[in-house]
Amino acid sequence: MSEGRKIRAVVVGAAGKMGGRIIHVLKETPSIELFQAVDRPDHPWMGKDIGELIGLGKLGIFLEGSLRKGGDVLIDFTAPQVSMESLKFAKESGTAAVVGTTGLNTEQLSRVRELSRDIRCVFSPNMSVGMNLMFKVVQDVARILGPEYDIEILEAHHRLKKDSPSGTAVRLGEIVAKATDRDFGQVGVYGRKGMVGERTRKEIGMQVIRAGDIVGEHTVLFGGIGERLEIIHRAHSRDNFARGAIRPPSGWSTSPTAFTTCRMCWG
Ligand code: NAD
Repeated sequence: MSEGRKIRAVVVGAAGKMGGRIIHVLKETPSIELFQAVDRPDHPWMGKDIGELIGLGKLGIFLEGSLRKGGDVLIDFTAPQVSMESLKFAKESGTAAVVGTTGLNTEQLSRVRELSRDIRCVFSPNMSVGMNLMFKVVQDVARILGPEYDIEILEAHHRLKKDSPSGTAVRLGEIVAKATDRDFGQVGVYGRKGMVGERTRKEIGMQVIRAGDIVGEHTVLFGGIGERLEIIHRAHSRDNFARGAIRPPSGWSTSPTAFTTCRMCWG
């Protein structure tokens, strides 16, 4: 890319909650410009100026129903099937991709891994810089405390969230399980009800709250005898995800985004 030219970003899911925040953050970022705003073809905002719709005033970018070539990077926060199509487009067109969509099934995840070999791609269930640091910290803490400490994960989100538990909570579970030589697929216990018996030493509990407009909270609790340690991340607004999603490479390893390298944030 020539020196001085702005990065041309395509926002997929531009009419959504995250899409809107990403466009707001892009507007404040001198090195990146909005090239295209895309949403589902039957969206009622189709053809209208996206800036006016999300409170930014006229941007001269009109909501479109499909991706077109010319962008440097597509930023997709939509739904699993939509993101799979975006990645396919990224591969075919040579566009870089930042995908934040959660709730992908095992088959879709392995396809993302496969596609990420050919695409400059960042894929993370949580683009927040603080959460990416927490991914690292919980791994260290789990290793240091070892099997004597019970691990429980709690997550809370707004009432409109569709997938459960959050992709971030699952990722935290996978990290702490791996750090203590366990397989989260085998030791994860999703909620408890009735006469479930004593807690096994190996299980990792996962508790989910859905209420009001909670943006996103994740706690990893390490319970010992006579003490407990809780590591908590609280998102105050969606802007932290939007800022993380467009954060340029800074040399700081917890930065979730790099337009120029091919890597995925799940380790
Ligand atoms: P949302 O429902 O507000 O937005 C999704 C948008 O995608 C909608 O505007 C919808 O119309 C659009 N869409 C649907 N079909 C489409 C298609 N075929 N083509 C283009 N656009 C299409 O949801 P949201 O809160 O913005 O979240 C979107 C996703 O991002 C969810 O999976 C959520 O869990 C995830 N998320 C991830 C992070 C992160 O940091 N990785 C943070 C917040 C949300």
